[in-house]
Amino acid sequence: MRTILLWMARNPWLRDRVPRLAFVRRAVRRFMPGEDVADALKAADALMASGQGILFTRLGENLTSIAEADVVAAHYHDVLDEGRSRDRPIEISVKPTQLGLDIDREATFAHCDRLATHAAEVGSWFWLDMEGSPYVDPTIELYERLRATHDNVGICLQAYLRRTAVDVRRLLAIRPAIRLVKGAYDEPAAIAYRRKAEVDASYQTVAVAIAEAARDGNARLGLGTHDVELVRRIATFAEAAGVPREKLEVHMLYGIRAPELRRLQKEGFPAFTLVAYGEFWYPWYMRRLAERPANVIFALRQILP
Ligand SMILES: Cc1cc2nc3c(=O)[nH]c(=O)nc-3n(C[C@H](O)[C@H](O)[C@H](O)COP(=O)(O)OP(=O)(O)OC[C@H]3O[C@@H](n4cnc5c(N)ncnc54)[C@H](O)[C@@H]3O)c2cc1C
Repeated sequence: MRTILLWMARNPWLRDRVPRLAFVRRAVRRFMPGEDVADALKAADALMASGQGILFTRLGENLTSIAEADVVAAHYHDVLDEGRSRDRPIEISVKPTQLGLDIDREATFAHCDRLATHAAEVGSWFWLDMEGSPYVDPTIELYERLRATHDNVGICLQAYLRRTAVDVRRLLAIRPAIRLVKGAYDEPAAIAYRRKAEVDASYQTVAVAIAEAARDGNARLGLGTHDVELVRRIATFAEAAGVPREKLEVHMLYGIRAPELRRLQKEGFPAFTLVAYGEFWYPWYMRRLAERPANVIFALRQILP
C-alpha cells in the first residue's frame, strides 16, 4: 500500500486530476487548515496561544522556471513579516527545489541567504526540508554554505538513509540545527533502511548524538516525529547523559497526534507544529497517506454524506 501511494504521489496524471475530487479536498483538511496563508495564520495563532512554536511550509515542489522561485521566496518574506506582529516569530521550512535547486544553484543560495537574513532580523529561523535522495548532497552543501554566515539556519535529515549517521557526524562540526525525521520518500534498500525497527534504531542513535551536542550548546535538535514512544526512549537515554528536557524539541505536523504533542509540551518538551498550506498539496498529502494507510479509509469515508 505504501509503495502504491508513493507511486501515486509521483504520477503527473493523478496529480492533475485527484485534487479536483471534492471528497479528497474534504479529507485533506485533516492535515491542512486551508490553502491560503490566512487559514494557516489562524491555525498558528491558536497553537501559539497554547505556547507552541510554529513552522510554516507552503506546499509545492520541483519548479520549472526560476521566476517561480522568486514568487515562492517573496511569499516567505511576507510570512516572516507577518510573524513580527506576534509574540513569537513564525519559523519557515522550505523545500530547496521550491527555491530553484533543480534549475540554478546560485540563485537558490541567494534566495536562502536573503531569507535567513530576514529571519534573523525578526528573531526567526530558516529551515531546509529534505527531499528525495538525489537532493541530499546538494541540500547539505547548501546548508553548510548558509551556516558559514548564519546562526539561525536548520536542516532536515532522514534517519532511514544509511548515510545519515555519517552526515550528522560531519555537520556536528559546524554546530548545526537539525530536524531529524524518519523519511517520507520511497528509497531503495541499497541506501535506506526499509524495516521500521531499523529506521527507529537509526533514529534513536542519531538523535541521542545530536542531543548530546545540544546539551553542550553545540546544536539545536528538533525531533520531527509523531512516534511518541520513540521520543520517550530518546528522552530516557538523553536524560541519562545529562541533556535537559528543554533541549529536546518535538516537531509534529498539523493535525497529527496533536493531543500527544500537548501532553509532551506539558511534560517540559518544547513543542512545535509544522503548518502546511497552499494549492499544491497533492504529492504531500499522498505521502501523509502512505505513512499511515489507515488514513485512506478516513479519506474514502468523506465520500459518504
Ligand atoms: C515536523 C516534520 C517535518 C518533516 N519534514 C520532512 C522532510 O523535510 N523530509 C522528509 O522526508 N520527511 C519529513 N517529515 C515526514 C517524516 O519523514 C515521516 O514520514 C513522518 O513523520 C511519519 O513518520 P513518524 O516519525 O511520525 O513515525 P511513524 O512510525 O510513521 O509513525 C508513528 C506513529 O505516528 C502516527 N502517525 C504517523 N504518521 C501519521 C499520519 N500521516 N497520520 C496519522 N497518524 C500518523 C501513527 O499513529 C504512528 O503509529 C516531517 C515530519 C515532521 C513531523
